[in-house]
Amino acid sequence: MTALTPSGPNAAGVHWDLSLICSDVAAAQQLLNETIAAAEAFDATYRGTVATLDATALAAALAELAEISNALHRVRSYVGLRRSVDVNDDEARDFETVVDQGMVRAGNALRFFDLEWIAVDDAVAQPLIDAPELAANRHHLSSERRFRPHVLPDDQERMLSEREPVVSAWQNLFAQTVSNIRAPFDDGTGETEKTVDELLSYVHTTNRPVRLAALETLYVALEPHGDVLSTCYDSIVADRLTMDRLRGYDSPIAPRHLSNELEPSWVDAMMEAIESRYGMAQRWFTKKAELMGLEKLHLADQYAPLGEGRAMPYVEACGIVEDAFGRFSPEILRVSKSVFDEQRVDAEPRQGKRGGAFCASVAQDAQPFIMLNHTDTLRDLMTVAHELGHGMHFALSSERQTALSMHAPLALCEVPSTFAELLVFDRMLAEEPDAATRMALIRQELESGFATVFRQTMMVRYEQDAYGARSEGQALTKDRLAEFWIARNKAYYGDSMELPEGYRRGWSYIPHFINTRFYTYAYAFAHLASLTLYALYREDGDAFVGPYLDFLATGGSKSPGEQLGAFGIDLADAATWGKGLDEMERMLELALEG
Ligand SMILES: [Zn+2]
Repeated sequence: MTALTPSGPNAAGVHWDLSLICSDVAAAQQLLNETIAAAEAFDATYRGTVATLDATALAAALAELAEISNALHRVRSYVGLRRSVDVNDDEARDFETVVDQGMVRAGNALRFFDLEWIAVDDAVAQPLIDAPELAANRHHLSSERRFRPHVLPDDQERMLSEREPVVSAWQNLFAQTVSNIRAPFDDGTGETEKTVDELLSYVHTTNRPVRLAALETLYVALEPHGDVLSTCYDSIVADRLTMDRLRGYDSPIAPRHLSNELEPSWVDAMMEAIESRYGMAQRWFTKKAELMGLEKLHLADQYAPLGEGRAMPYVEACGIVEDAFGRFSPEILRVSKSVFDEQRVDAEPRQGKRGGAFCASVAQDAQPFIMLNHTDTLRDLMTVAHELGHGMHFALSSERQTALSMHAPLALCEVPSTFAELLVFDRMLAEEPDAATRMALIRQELESGFATVFRQTMMVRYEQDAYGARSEGQALTKDRLAEFWIARNKAYYGDSMELPEGYRRGWSYIPHFINTRFYTYAYAFAHLASLTLYALYREDGDAFVGPYLDFLATGGSKSPGEQLGAFGIDLADAATWGKGLDEMERMLELALEG
């Protein structure tokens, strides 16, 4: 039995032991002080010299940098994790301010290194990248330089960075406006003021009138802010287009592709393949309406539960996940068990704890920690699998990679978590005795797949419309954005969904558009990549396991194309995406049977 087995049937008492990261605030403070001093010493030693370092000296500098990075991540994680389980932890709150300041100081001392490295001539850099002394950080060194053609001379870069506070001001205005929105709403327990997120969370409730009313309340609450939110977006898009012109990017999505290390043609082919299968979602929404006894599904019913499935108490959920993992590989079972055995999970929902779930990698010389809010639902079971999937990725990559190369590229981050869910999904379909639970799980996974693959792709198309219009000199007014938004949504939902009038403002509160343009296709990419890997696992059986463990251990030391190429997945081949989409279709057929 694991050390974490709670005394009750649920997750009561399952708290993590953060002393594995830092023993207390005093120790974390001391580590922070030492690390800032190390960062400043690094600055004094290396500033102005990067172009002159030979392979041995550069390897030594990177090793120092990795050590500093590990220590900073350790301190940052310690305080962040403490805050996440207790927002009223005053000691942690005070220390967080100190850590924030310390991170800025360390960042200022270290920033020169990457900039100098990017500026080194190719003729000097390439032999270093190829040098055996630098093999552990080869991909890190070469991939940092991919932005080189778009970096401007030093004095111009400085001028551009001086205007950044103005851009942040628009982002802050957006964030403040959305987070300050409150609307009175009665979910049946009495009227209270609700935030945007609170109103959105009602889409999962079984009570249909409450779902419909919550969405309507949200749109009414958003309406008066339409001009401010569209102006924030318009200003940010205009700035980005100007920056792109100065930096010589040929399209507004190009910086994102470059950052993701993906060829534009690969992503184009993926999105076209996804769009060609929108009909799958429409078939499901039509069936769902029928199951609910409705003529047509309303947007508020999109994620409505169709039957609950049985309860998944924490201990049982962990047991199911471990069983599924153990069948795949004893290695990932070992890694997952250690999370429980070493008390690196906090599962009990309680007052003052943040909502949701996440896995924190902490640092390359530490082990990952997992936060859950386990309330015994089927969704919680999959969340345990999901976060442990991230955990095994971090744990295995940190064993083989450096602090600078352990983190997978964004497009692959959600692959191990989704794959872990698929392992548990298949185990449940094979072993779960309760048919209603199996069906609830199938539908839950199907709908979350549609949201991830289809809806996130639809959002990218909306962004493309917006950037296209703005680059032709059209201001992004709330009505123009509404037009793009509704058109793209109609393309996705077809006639299968009733979109309420207020959904015209559905674009207005989504932070990705404001903070990181074209972010969302990475979700679709990762989801389809996991489904494709899972299809390969079904075909190849045990022969798949070794390469998959290698993939987990690769972390960020290779590009997505290389990592998936190792499985024979060719991202340049448009047909590649069919495999993952066929997996979704397989799930759809199961869901339609019920
Ligand atoms: Zn995740």
